[in-house]
Amino acid sequence: ESFLNKSYGFENFVEGDCNRLARAASFAVAQKPSTTSFNPLMIYGGVGLGKTHLVQAIGNYIEKQSENSKIVLYVSSEKFTSQFINAIRENSLQDFMAFYMRVDVLILDDVQFLSGKEKTQETFFHIFNHLHQTGKQIVMTSDRPPRELSGMEDRLLSRFKWGLTADIQAPDLETRIAIIQNKVEEEKAIMDEEVIEYLAHCIDSNVRELEGVVISLIADSALTRRKINLDMAKFRVKSIVEENQKVISIDKIIEVVTDYFRIKVSDIKGKTRLREVVLPRQIAMYLAKEFTTLSLKAIGYHFGGRDHSTVIHAIQTVNDLIDFDRDVAGHVKELKDGFKK
Ligand code: ADP
Ligand code: MG
Repeated sequence: ESFLNKSYGFENFVEGDCNRLARAASFAVAQKPSTTSFNPLMIYGGVGLGKTHLVQAIGNYIEKQSENSKIVLYVSSEKFTSQFINAIRENSLQDFMAFYMRVDVLILDDVQFLSGKEKTQETFFHIFNHLHQTGKQIVMTSDRPPRELSGMEDRLLSRFKWGLTADIQAPDLETRIAIIQNKVEEEKAIMDEEVIEYLAHCIDSNVRELEGVVISLIADSALTRRKINLDMAKFRVKSIVEENQKVISIDKIIEVVTDYFRIKVSDIKGKTRLREVVLPRQIAMYLAKEFTTLSLKAIGYHFGGRDHSTVIHAIQTVNDLIDFDRDVAGHVKELKDGFKK
């Protein structure tokens, strides 16, 4: 058994600038395992950006192409470690090693998990050497670049450099839109352009989260027999934002700030340059940066489509005012304290 998830393939992996090299290298390895110079292949990047998807796609592709004559094994580093510990407890280390040394393609996910685990690393080092010397393919992922993997033995890190290291970055807006469209199609659901754009703007740093929201909306819509609309999307985005460690949604921030300064939401999002509105608007942007995980670009979008340089300017202005203007400092403090309750 390979422990691969068949639903992860190249055909449903959306390509963008953020992942082009990683995808191309993965596809090359999938087509010609252990004959490219990409051995080992190491894919790194933040959570939910498609590392597991991509390396599973490699495994699935190889299994299919070789009609299962190649032994492919996918394992998370966490599972590898616990298997190793069990092997020690049960005096079956030989079996453990033999099991891993007979595979043709070893896919080890999230190697950062091996940090500080000396014995597990040592064992992996031996397996790695054996596989590499006998012309087998090794694929790994990590949540950070190898040079930042502290607690990892140098001799192991130096092996990682023998092959190719490729990163995956957060997807740009168009790629996020494409990912949503794909998911909607896969689920045979319908979602308006307006909703898709809204979601793509709001959730910009984690594809897993983005997919999660899309799936819940499709479920909501099936349950209520209603077409997915913007309000449903806003509600879902709000709840996901609130689940995150920075617990306040941008809509909530705008609501609280406009209440506090007794101005209208349409004004804060609008074009007016009146001082009574400009300052609250800047403070709201500043708070959005502080209390949400949104990018500057995404924040600008929520304030009537302003660009990210406007947001930067707002944040700098408020930071300066906090130092020099006691009134502003007081407002910001009161608002912040209100959020923390
Ligand atoms: P990671 O391992 O980097 O944390 P995953 O591979 O588990 O991330 O990806 C999280 C989810 O997002 C998965 O359901 C995956 O299919 C999806 N996903 C991520 N990137 C893409 C992409 N470029 N195209 C399609 N789906 C993607
Ligand atoms: Mg993963």
